[in-house]
Amino acid sequence: MSVYSPALPTPRLADYHQLGPTHQAHFDSFMEQADNTRDATEYAFFMAAAALAAGTPLPPGGEIAKCACTQCYCAAIFDTAAPGLIVIETSTYGLPLLQCADCADEHPTPIED
Ligand SMILES: [Zn+2]
Ligand SMILES: [Zn+2]
Repeated sequence: MSVYSPALPTPRLADYHQLGPTHQAHFDSFMEQADNTRDATEYAFFMAAAALAAGTPLPPGGEIAKCACTQCYCAAIFDTAAPGLIVIETSTYGLPLLQCADCADEHPTPIED
């Protein structure tokens, strides 16, 4: 793996739109499987695999997500432990769907009752 250290202060790790179709397909598949498993070891494995597909190192927290913003075509892939994220929905398996810090800043869409 090449030595690549992003200089930007943004918590964004990668952009889904910048990935090739094969990497996008793998990323989607691993994220879906992570969402579907109830096994912590499997979950960690799928997260690591998804990060690999996205071409980003797995953050210390071991969890990444793709921006679930419904108001723009943002597809930022980020560390779920990054500051400024908003939970906009929960998946069918109870995992939070997150809006990235940029979207949360520009057009926040928090969960409504
Ligand atoms: Zn976003
Ligand atoms: Zn957005």
